[in-house]
Amino acid sequence: MTKSCCDACKSDNIHPIYHLPRIPAFQNLLFPTAEEARNAPVAKVILTACSDCGFVFNAAFNADLMEYNGNYQNSQENSQNFQNHLGNVADIIMSSLAPNEKVVEIGCGKAFFFEELRNRGVDIIGFDPTYEGNSPLIKKVYFNEETGRNISASTIIMRHTLEHIEAPYDFLLSLKGIVGGSTRIFIEIPRFEWIVEHRAFWDIFHEHPNYFSEDFFNGIFSGKARIHRVFSDQYMLVEAMLGDLADTLPPRTCVKYEDIFSNEIQHFDTLLSKNGRNFIWGAGAKGVAFANILDPDATRIQAIIDINPRKQEHFVSLTAHPCLSPEKVDWTTLTEKDYLFIMNDRYADEILASLPKMACKVFVLGKDKQGIQT
Ligand SMILES: [Zn+2]
Repeated sequence: MTKSCCDACKSDNIHPIYHLPRIPAFQNLLFPTAEEARNAPVAKVILTACSDCGFVFNAAFNADLMEYNGNYQNSQENSQNFQNHLGNVADIIMSSLAPNEKVVEIGCGKAFFFEELRNRGVDIIGFDPTYEGNSPLIKKVYFNEETGRNISASTIIMRHTLEHIEAPYDFLLSLKGIVGGSTRIFIEIPRFEWIVEHRAFWDIFHEHPNYFSEDFFNGIFSGKARIHRVFSDQYMLVEAMLGDLADTLPPRTCVKYEDIFSNEIQHFDTLLSKNGRNFIWGAGAKGVAFANILDPDATRIQAIIDINPRKQEHFVSLTAHPCLSPEKVDWTTLTEKDYLFIMNDRYADEILASLPKMACKVFVLGKDKQGIQT
């Protein structure tokens, strides 16, 4: 059922800005056979903006489809570049932590960041149902009133978690109720401003019911949130006191979003309809969205390349594009008619450095408005 009011402030002053009628429920789930991939759960996106609080959300989000488990592969830790990013975020957080602070990480995933903080001597516990390890410090459950009872924390960390939680403002209010207003929170999420500036339609997924702007956080934290832009401005780390979270969200003047992606989709559609071979680098959420939007029948993109061995020899949800290791492609045979689309400019340098000299055209998505050609 499509939502008829804002998922944050509950206003009905909302308008749709982008529509995806058929998209995988999970972007980060790949399948061992093409048939299983084609039968993956289907979802849709009606990206909707609220004019009263600036929140952007998927009005067609279907929570019933979403069950996170150990098969969920969203980690990017195979990349040195991403490890550098984790170190940078850890530096920012450490600079605010007092000695002996009790820290809770909600949604700690496979615990890479959690272990980074542990190695720096932080007193931390974690919550995540997708955690696969054996650390007694991590509970394999969602954090809620029940599981969070008797937890004392002076700092909460949520990295790439809040964008997965329906009604995130209500969640933050309940968090404030559980741990108290004197608790500091760090929230790392994608920046919607970056998506709009780069016309990055490949960053809109069913897995993310929410899209956050700096303006939205300034609104809900009464203008007192400190916002650190990280990961080349694609993400932001919001630092705030839960006590500054407004108990209600009165209407205010917000950025007005219109049709933001159609020219960009047309641009890439034209590129893919030429006669060469097309490859995507990156079978993460961005690559899977790009493939599903522009090549739903898997007739134009040969393969999606990924360095994560757990994704290789698997198939992309719905389209069943194969995911291959870079070694499976003879890059030297590509010609100037062939295209390689690198899904994240943060990794472009390390990817291109790992490949032999190639004749194909390379597009780095997000590098500029229309994907730069190198
Ligand atoms: Zn709203």
